[in-house]
Amino acid sequence: MDTHDPFGSKRMSGIEQFPRRCWAEIDLAALERNLKAIQATLPPHIRYIAVVKADAYGHGMHQTVARLMQAGIDMYGVANVAEAATIREIGGNGWSILILGATLREEAQFLFEYDLIPTLSCPEEVAFLDAMARERGCVLKVHLKIDTGMGRLGIWHERAPELFDAVKAATHLQLNGIYTHFAHAETDIAFTDLQRRRFMSAISQIDWLPLDDLMIHADNSAGITSFTHDSAYNAVRIGLLQFGITPYAKSLFAKAQTSPIFSFKTRVSLVKTLPAGTDVSYGRTCTLQRESRIAILCAGYGDGIPRSLSNKGLALISGQKCPYLGRVTMDQIIVDVTDLPHAPAIGDEACLIGAQGGSEILLEEFSEWAGTISWEILCSITKRVTRIYKTSIATG
Ligand SMILES: *Cc1c(COP(=O)(O)O)cnc(C)c1O
Repeated sequence: MDTHDPFGSKRMSGIEQFPRRCWAEIDLAALERNLKAIQATLPPHIRYIAVVKADAYGHGMHQTVARLMQAGIDMYGVANVAEAATIREIGGNGWSILILGATLREEAQFLFEYDLIPTLSCPEEVAFLDAMARERGCVLKVHLKIDTGMGRLGIWHERAPELFDAVKAATHLQLNGIYTHFAHAETDIAFTDLQRRRFMSAISQIDWLPLDDLMIHADNSAGITSFTHDSAYNAVRIGLLQFGITPYAKSLFAKAQTSPIFSFKTRVSLVKTLPAGTDVSYGRTCTLQRESRIAILCAGYGDGIPRSLSNKGLALISGQKCPYLGRVTMDQIIVDVTDLPHAPAIGDEACLIGAQGGSEILLEEFSEWAGTISWEILCSITKRVTRIYKTSIATG
């Protein structure tokens, strides 16, 4: 301890010593229950790739990954080598990690250092990594990606044999899996079906090793709504659904009984009454139509509440939905609490996403009001928002 700096230790403890103004609660037991619920809807031989890119969709990479290590998954999917290295730091060496993005040349050495599986889309990538593995005298596991209509990574499905030939000729690469990615699995069943047919047709051209030896995967969260049990698939890649979020036809997921694990909360910092005709917040976009009681909440776009929720969002206070008044500002939002039976007290909890007193604001609704998707909202909750983890044993 540094005795010369009486404030040193306190300062080092960061923001934990201060009362929370805005925070996210994350229920890791619910994450585990969701995982089991999803797995229960799939045939037992289907391997589970837990997608934890972008800080596990904003839930926190360390805690999420550690919980999933115990819970029984088969592989992690991340965006890049830096995220994969974070998983290696958490421990559990030996976990397979698939890099879902294309690997930059300067990143390639880390594939070897951290024992990672890259996604390859073209013969040039195959040749580059094969040469690198040969130089190092080791064998690198790889997954190939087929573009069946997403127009992003992968070799265009009609040219898949060029990629297969390249990897067949490689001496220091071990083909471990082949996959594709859906562009519109949420709603466009016909197009997803076309993508599935293109994928199956492409992989049927592999004749030099049995497909059973490979991980064959296509399905993300939305994909598994149309998962076909009788095909070559033996793995799925699940992100959003394990966090209990189903922004598309919920009924499709009736089988997988998942529930949200994330809630976003703040507090009332001030309550006051303003006369009719007053404009509220920046830009004068909201004129009070009646004498109104308003509450100021301790969260704004600096915490990840999209500015597009100005005059549109709802927050739960005392279990009732209170409309946002005017623009969302950086650190605060203003809500109308006129219709609450009792004026809220300073310090009262306000729920921005999640359940309170028998009411609930779903992340899916919050995203829709903001004109965006649940994935983006989760990735936009900023670092200022402390993540608090509930870590009970998963039951039921
Ligand atoms: C992010 C991602 C997933 C997971 O998608 P969800 O819709 O969140 O389940 C699966 N595969 C790839 C290639 C991805 O980039």
